[in-house]
Amino acid sequence: MTGAAGSAGAVVEAARVDDGGPGDADWAAAEALIRELPPDGRVLLVCHVNPDGDALGSMLGFGLGLRRRGVRRIQATFPGPPEVPEPLRGLPGLDLLVPSTAAYPDPDLVICFDAASESRLGELVDRLDTAGAALVLDHHASNTRFGGVNLVDPHAAATSVVAEQLLARLGVALDVEIAECLYVALTTDTGSFRFEATTPAVHHLAARLLATGIRPGDISRRVFDTRPFGAVRLFGEVLGRARLDVSAAGGRGLVWTWATQDDLARHDQRPYVLEALIDSVRCTAEADVSCVLKQTGPAEWAVSMRSKGGVDVSRVAVALGGGGHRFAAGFTGRGTADEVVERIRGQLDGALLPATGA
Ligand code: AMP
Ligand code: MN
Ligand code: MN
Repeated sequence: MTGAAGSAGAVVEAARVDDGGPGDADWAAAEALIRELPPDGRVLLVCHVNPDGDALGSMLGFGLGLRRRGVRRIQATFPGPPEVPEPLRGLPGLDLLVPSTAAYPDPDLVICFDAASESRLGELVDRLDTAGAALVLDHHASNTRFGGVNLVDPHAAATSVVAEQLLARLGVALDVEIAECLYVALTTDTGSFRFEATTPAVHHLAARLLATGIRPGDISRRVFDTRPFGAVRLFGEVLGRARLDVSAAGGRGLVWTWATQDDLARHDQRPYVLEALIDSVRCTAEADVSCVLKQTGPAEWAVSMRSKGGVDVSRVAVALGGGGHRFAAGFTGRGTADEVVERIRGQLDGALLPATGA
């Protein structure tokens, strides 16, 4: 599939084997799980809690691909409240979604998307045991390989890259609906082609997705550039209380802010609107590391961290019970916001990267 990439592609392929990316046997095993489904086989697709564009996009795009192959009994779901963030409510394939409470209790096959560990599956984690087989599609380096078959490619820019490769092996052609799902996933995880993961292969995939006729301007406006006025005001308030410590992280600098449940209530906003906050915070020129703490309970925070290359924030996140990628990671913090920030500070010096960066 990467044949067109030429000799540089071959070098990348060779490197992948060393990094524990999927090998031929993994791809063949994954393909067999789907090809050998019984005619009335039930497939349950699951993505991580608080799904983002890659989680939902890769899951729904793959689900539509299975449907095109003639698989009739497909459900897609995610743990927690069955609420799709407003920016993702235009995704094709949403009709595949069911609340986690209605998901097949014992599917013939469960496929997990964009989840680095079992804990990201919440109350659906039992399906790994009750399903006939479990397949994992992911791109987190920290992935614990919790499936029976694991397609985990830490070099992939998004889980949708892995999903598209498997669809191609299954002989499913891209159509406009599958492409829109995979494009949303790809643009979400590459920061609209701005992040380091934006390789030539990413642009090749984007070109093939665009060639189906999807409309990138409409999609980006809907997914990234639209939010309620209340969220604009909320952002103003939360950004207004941001703190900067230029001496943190060995002088690389730390910027952070926090948003409480009361902030959300006062502006009548849903929690998902806070997902975009980190993008405004990480612009700070004086800081390599940025953090946003989003309150999820009386003393509980969903923490998002980003780095510009000077700190391996996945090490910080893993040390504090979470996970993620080198320059984008998160964890669940407990206590006051100040206590959580102190715990982050305590891990920064052990996560510094050489000045040359990646
Ligand atoms: P976010 O800041 O929510 O966009 O997440 C950035 C990255 O960190 C994503 O790859 C997530 O999968 C990962 N991540 C965020 N929160 C957690 C968590 N509580 N546990 C494990 N990984 C997480
Ligand atoms: Mn994700
Ligand atoms: Mn992802």
